[in-house]
Amino acid sequence: MSTWLDRRVEIITADITTLAVDVIVNAANPSLLGGGGVDGAIHRAAGPELLEECRTLGGARPGEVKMTRGYRLPAKAVAHAVGPIWRGGDHGEAETLASCYRRALELTEAHGYRTIAFPSISTGAYGYPIQQAARIAQQTVRDYLESSRAPLHVIFCCFSPGDTRVYEEVARELLQPRT
Ligand code: ADP
Repeated sequence: MSTWLDRRVEIITADITTLAVDVIVNAANPSLLGGGGVDGAIHRAAGPELLEECRTLGGARPGEVKMTRGYRLPAKAVAHAVGPIWRGGDHGEAETLASCYRRALELTEAHGYRTIAFPSISTGAYGYPIQQAARIAQQTVRDYLESSRAPLHVIFCCFSPGDTRVYEEVARELLQPRT
């Protein structure tokens, strides 16, 4: 099932490794050398060449994003984003998480790609409360799309129907007129 929020943003329930988009975003760790969760799934689906390229990148800090090719994935490229580990919310987690979304969109635009799919960064092993993370994800993407002229199409790819419901609820909240 999918819900159109507006022309360019969509929420779906899917395995992100199956999406034939230009860019899928990986919720990576600072080593950029693979891990569990969506990171492990992306590396398994992309094949060992992805790890080889990742070894050349020198890691990334939280909030940074680095792009690789997609190899055996249906996606053309992977944007490896290092999300924040949740430490209670007053350690800059929100700004770090927003930076992941912004940088991934900037890199996508800079490469001339148009379609990008995000997993719910940091809300698995990294422990970020999903409702708060979904707000930051969607607000950051909306702000970016408002300021950009690029014809981007953004997919929020949730892994469970429960996560999708949270994203849809947040989308409805954000569509309320500001008072
Ligand atoms: P993090 O360490 O950033 O929290 P995780 O991979 O543990 O990263 O979880 C991030 C989100 O990715 C979670 O919502 C998890 O359910 C989801 N996820 C795991 N596997 C996949 C997949 N194949 N496709 C899309 N989302 C996935």
